[in-house]
Amino acid sequence: MELQISQITQIKKELLSIINAVKTKIEIEKGFGIDTISISKLNGKISMPELNPLIKNNPIKTPLTDKQIDSDGKERRAQLLENLQSEMMDCHKCPLGKTRTNLVFGVGNPMANLMFVGEAPGRDEDLQGEPFVGRAGQLLTKIIEAIGFKRSDVYIANVLKCRPPGNRNPLPEEITLCMQYLIKQIEIIQPKVLCALGTFAAQTLLNTKSPVGTLRGRFHEYKGIPAMVTFHPAYLLRNPNDKVKVWEDMKKVRDFLGELLQKDSNPS
Ligand code: SF4
Repeated sequence: MELQISQITQIKKELLSIINAVKTKIEIEKGFGIDTISISKLNGKISMPELNPLIKNNPIKTPLTDKQIDSDGKERRAQLLENLQSEMMDCHKCPLGKTRTNLVFGVGNPMANLMFVGEAPGRDEDLQGEPFVGRAGQLLTKIIEAIGFKRSDVYIANVLKCRPPGNRNPLPEEITLCMQYLIKQIEIIQPKVLCALGTFAAQTLLNTKSPVGTLRGRFHEYKGIPAMVTFHPAYLLRNPNDKVKVWEDMKKVRDFLGELLQKDSNPS
């Protein structure tokens, strides 16, 4: 069978687009810290992941859209966050107030579309007063950059604002007492998507006892805000093979946000 020139051109075009897609994929995954890509992944169809139908059919109920936010919006939210931070700087509601070096409030863009919620400050965070600044924090920054954001574009906070001694797990009563601060932060920032990092963030936000392994990889909902669950970066440092799973989760976040922002800029 002989191929016509137009068919050969078409095949060439398709091959080129596949090669480019693979190159992009490899570059991003390398940036994210994934050194190996399985053959089956490369052989698979390269396409954007499908949105969770539950999310497609349930538009986000954030109180404000980008269009409604005037130039004062950022300042107003920054001020509200500052007020909240001042209110809680001396918090001693739970015993962690006595053992902390610094209260770790949160950091990032008060107008962030994407907000990450982790578990609690570790040693480095306690010393510096900023969330995710240690090795796990550096990995989180890579994750954020791999989906096309800068760390300063997003907002990052923890369920607990003070470090549990020896990095032990948060206690239920500590979570109950501290959770109100996180709730207020989310209310002020009004992110379009939340990303819960690890068991405690996921179980707290979603009010469930299910393990992170069964929750991850799909969107849930926190007060009308889509919430992706994925592994905590500290877990990834111990289990690097699961980086691929986190990468899959984060691509869903990236694509969901991309679609949402496109819709916002082109309402039909
Ligand atoms: S962990 Fe939360 S509730 Fe406990 S002292 Fe710190 S800020 Fe207050």
